[in-house]
Amino acid sequence: MLESGENNRTELEELGEFGLIENIAKQVSLKLPTSVKGIGDDAAVLDYSSGKTVISTDMLVEGVHFDLSYVPLKHLGYKAVAVNLSDVLAMNAIPQHITVSVALSNRFSVEAVNELYAGINMACATYEVDLVGGDTTSSVAGLVISVTATGIAKEEDIVYRDGAQDTNILVCSGDLGGAYMGLQMLEREKEIFKENSAVQPDFTGMEYILERQLKPEPRKDVILELQRLGIKPTAMIDVSDGLASEVLHLCHGSDLGVSIYEDKIPIDQKTFDVAMENHLDPTMCAMNGGEDYELLFSLDLKDYEKVKEHPLFKVIGHFTEKTDGYTLIAKGGTTHPIEAQGWNSFKQS
Ligand code: ADP
Ligand code: MG
Repeated sequence: MLESGENNRTELEELGEFGLIENIAKQVSLKLPTSVKGIGDDAAVLDYSSGKTVISTDMLVEGVHFDLSYVPLKHLGYKAVAVNLSDVLAMNAIPQHITVSVALSNRFSVEAVNELYAGINMACATYEVDLVGGDTTSSVAGLVISVTATGIAKEEDIVYRDGAQDTNILVCSGDLGGAYMGLQMLEREKEIFKENSAVQPDFTGMEYILERQLKPEPRKDVILELQRLGIKPTAMIDVSDGLASEVLHLCHGSDLGVSIYEDKIPIDQKTFDVAMENHLDPTMCAMNGGEDYELLFSLDLKDYEKVKEHPLFKVIGHFTEKTDGYTLIAKGGTTHPIEAQGWNSFKQS
């Protein structure tokens, strides 16, 4: 996990908006040849003459998307960047630049902002991305952070959600359900702590699922490996809302049905064990949990040999004609309709 910093406190008003931006700029350096101008002018200047540009934005709102009572600011910064890079990678593009906009209340100190940016900068370094701008404003309640990420790809390499064929196989990277189980454990400990603040959380043995929740890693390695193997997925999406919801996006985009085999869904042993201990079905955690940020894609059958034994990939099913529907084939052979239960931010709770 990421270390957290010192406990000194400097008020935001001591620096003011320009001082704060200067303080952020000091922590940033440009490394990519595509970065012409970063922070400091009215706009950044980027050179994408060697390919098409993809661009994606995500906004995270305190109390809706994250809870600072158990998410350290450094992790929040890292994750805010990571989830955006995951979207860029899901287009089969290589991430290049981010801008970061923050709304801060006076609850936050300059040191807190520095923690946030330490995480942002760490993600930039890990994924070879340059931070080239943003916006800073005040907020009356809570923290809002919005990241925009760009990437570059040759036009013929870009992968959309609509290209799957009914003869394609369905492939997933990594394992699923861990981030959801991590969140359940953090929420559980928060409730216990609220009732009795003398009880310290015991997360022994849960490092993996907590890391999956707090420090997701977008799968740039998977994209680079697909390129090395000479494989171009026919359709692709990143798993932010759970396997069920994402596979349905591919199906609807490509006008197809799908069959997924429960026994093929990759679930880490720790995720499995913690789910069982908490009376949750591990398959349902993978199907309807979320925030795993793995890649889910369709491949032509000709690529099957290249991925079937590969440690980065797991073949979990195949596409069908739309009239065959969306089916989960359970371990016992029974079939179940796949339904999206992804998280709906507009639903009243
Ligand atoms: P403007 O008034 O033109 O919007 P700003 O004062 O908001 O300019 O920003 C000045 C420079 O600082 C710009 O290059 C902008 O992209 C950058 N910047 C502002 N806020 C942030 C931030 N939170 N993170 C990174 N760069 C920022
Ligand atoms: Mg501005």
